[in-house]
Amino acid sequence: MIVQELRAIQDRCGYLPEPELRALARRTGEPLHRLHEVASCFPLYRLQPPPRVAVRVCRDMACHLRGARALAQDLAALAAEIGGGQVVVEGVSCLGQCDHAPAVALSSRHGEPPAYQEQIFRGLKVGELRQRIRAALDGEAVPAQHADRTPLAWKIDPYQGQPRYDLVRRFVADRDADAVLAALQAAGLQGMGGAAFPTHLKWRAVRDQPGPAKYVVCNADESEPGTFKDRELLRRAPHLVIEGMVLAGLVVGAVRAYLYVRHEFEEEIEAVQAALDAARAERICGENILGSELTLPVEIFVSPGGYICGEESALLEAIEDRRAEPRNKPPFPVQVGLFGKPTVINNVETLSWVPAILLKGGPWYRDQGVRGGKGLRFVSVCGDVHRPGVFEVPFGQTVRELIEMAGGMRGGQPLKAIAPSGPSSGYLPAVVRLENIPEKFRSRLRAGAAEFDVLDLPLANEPRVNQPVADLGSMLGAAFVVVGERTCMVDMVRNTTEFFRNESCGKCVPCRVGSQKLVEMLTDIVSGRFAPDRLPVVDELARTMRDTSICGLGMVAANPMASLITHFREELDQHVLHRRCPLGVCAMA
Ligand code: SF4
Repeated sequence: MIVQELRAIQDRCGYLPEPELRALARRTGEPLHRLHEVASCFPLYRLQPPPRVAVRVCRDMACHLRGARALAQDLAALAAEIGGGQVVVEGVSCLGQCDHAPAVALSSRHGEPPAYQEQIFRGLKVGELRQRIRAALDGEAVPAQHADRTPLAWKIDPYQGQPRYDLVRRFVADRDADAVLAALQAAGLQGMGGAAFPTHLKWRAVRDQPGPAKYVVCNADESEPGTFKDRELLRRAPHLVIEGMVLAGLVVGAVRAYLYVRHEFEEEIEAVQAALDAARAERICGENILGSELTLPVEIFVSPGGYICGEESALLEAIEDRRAEPRNKPPFPVQVGLFGKPTVINNVETLSWVPAILLKGGPWYRDQGVRGGKGLRFVSVCGDVHRPGVFEVPFGQTVRELIEMAGGMRGGQPLKAIAPSGPSSGYLPAVVRLENIPEKFRSRLRAGAAEFDVLDLPLANEPRVNQPVADLGSMLGAAFVVVGERTCMVDMVRNTTEFFRNESCGKCVPCRVGSQKLVEMLTDIVSGRFAPDRLPVVDELARTMRDTSICGLGMVAANPMASLITHFREELDQHVLHRRCPLGVCAMA
């Protein structure tokens, strides 16, 4: 377990000193270059001693919309004032706290021998952060911010916070895997991590594979800017994901199940660990489940970080102690997954729906949808709304209804754009003009309409059957980022594209170089140095990246830029042709 051994060293030393790495190489029999290969891949690990206080300000979508750039500048000024390199301020990719933006991670060293701690702070004012930085510098204990763990009255939780594991009990009694698969099929439950693949087909594919060794992996590496719904499920209802994992394991005949969770989710890890300990004590998982011959150990695997670990095959590489680089597909994980064996990989929410569906029936879940949508889902809403948060909503709900649930637009400003799947979807404008509406969406327009009000867009997602967001040229995910009129879309798209550039694993050239090229173009645009004749190159670059990248990151990295060109052309032209930012956000040369 190189990944976890490295983490233990870093927790003890604050970084990975060379003598410690050599000692680990001797102890494990792994060559030193293998340890460096892993250590240099993941953002958690440090190969150099940390400063006395390290401040990492989230720079991604929601935090960007809520003033992260100015906050980082202010804290950098404080670091300069303190001097001596004692405080270092830098940017960091999404910390998963988009509902309380801006988020800041504060790491400090205190005591003798030194102990190291990292805490994440959400939505604090600059003065409060300055106070905490000074306290950390003085070696004082910095008070933590705790998140609420109270169960909510969600339909997803048939136990209303009281874990009973009725479905594991039922399965051990009747062993009816076919009934489980039939219920999931009747429900139409699909993958809630973005791919929308039918869950029953995935489980069935793994179940039908020959061989005794199979695995279940729950993907709790929720790192896409704007997504934080799984975080709430893990903290408020951990028993649901545990029951979903155990049922998946029993149905497909798995030998072990892993919950792969991002390391920043400390309170969520604590909540799941406590629920898992209780479940083990009740023999819901582990050896001889409920006294039967069935066995399924369930473990938590804490990720050493990186957005790319959310890609299912990169995640498997990380568990196998390798660099988190996506695999070429096929073969798919259902055939060749963890340790080369067939593997079910499901998202937290997907697994968490399984108990309610089995208790109440597939049709119960399916019929919760509205306007032709099927079922329920969780969505994270953030950005320029009054009450960012996680909402349990029916598929088919409109953008208008969702924004109303989140308290409406912040400061009363009009809606300018939405990103219905975080950075991956790019942006849809508040009003989509007829010439930008794809043919397949036009049947949804009122007769004679010359535009479409995006507030009326139903958020359904049944591939090839009822997928209005995809038909409109975008994609529907779990991150719903709302952008108000006071935002410069060119600046916003640069921010979003930088995220992909920063998180590209670099394995394939089109993504590694293409995302950097896009950032360079956008940097030139916001600084007034961009020659208009370079714009047509974007199309070609986007196509190349989409067609030749190994994984989804490279395939979607040009989407924000493409949406800027399609839907926000006047604003872009103001920057490119007139070297002027209409919102006064970009410092044009
Ligand atoms: Fe890595 Fe990008 Fe290639 Fe994906 S597309 S494997 S993130 S370089």
